[in-house]
Amino acid sequence: MTLDIVRVDRVRAYPPRVTAFTQRFWDSVAQGRLETTVCEDCGKLSFPPKTFCPHCWSTRTRWTGLSGHGRLYAQTMIHAAPAIFRDEAPYRVGIVDLQEGLRIATRLLSDEAPKLDTPVEIVTLLYTDGPLFAARPNG
Ligand SMILES: [Zn+2]
Repeated sequence: MTLDIVRVDRVRAYPPRVTAFTQRFWDSVAQGRLETTVCEDCGKLSFPPKTFCPHCWSTRTRWTGLSGHGRLYAQTMIHAAPAIFRDEAPYRVGIVDLQEGLRIATRLLSDEAPKLDTPVEIVTLLYTDGPLFAARPNG
């Protein structure tokens, strides 16, 4: 599955701390792919990706691709933003249930409040200094 890439003409207000382990995740997002880790012992997914399984504590995890499609579980508009995000306020955030059964929190691209359970897709936000990701309604 390929994520649409939305170019954002600014730097990220609060860039993620990239480690040797998470480099692969952020490189994939920049290329329009959403990946995470799956446990080779119990088969459960984790998000964000981890070097161990939070379900059974196994350290046998491997990378796997995600569809980037899901449904909106919850959303809100942030008006009183933390100082570092003040220039971006107001902005919407949501909780998305991905098709694969993962529940993730993410920025939500929508001028109006989408109805709950609306189909959403994850997109790459390509800022001038690197990627982030967000969800947007696609139904
Ligand atoms: Zn496990």
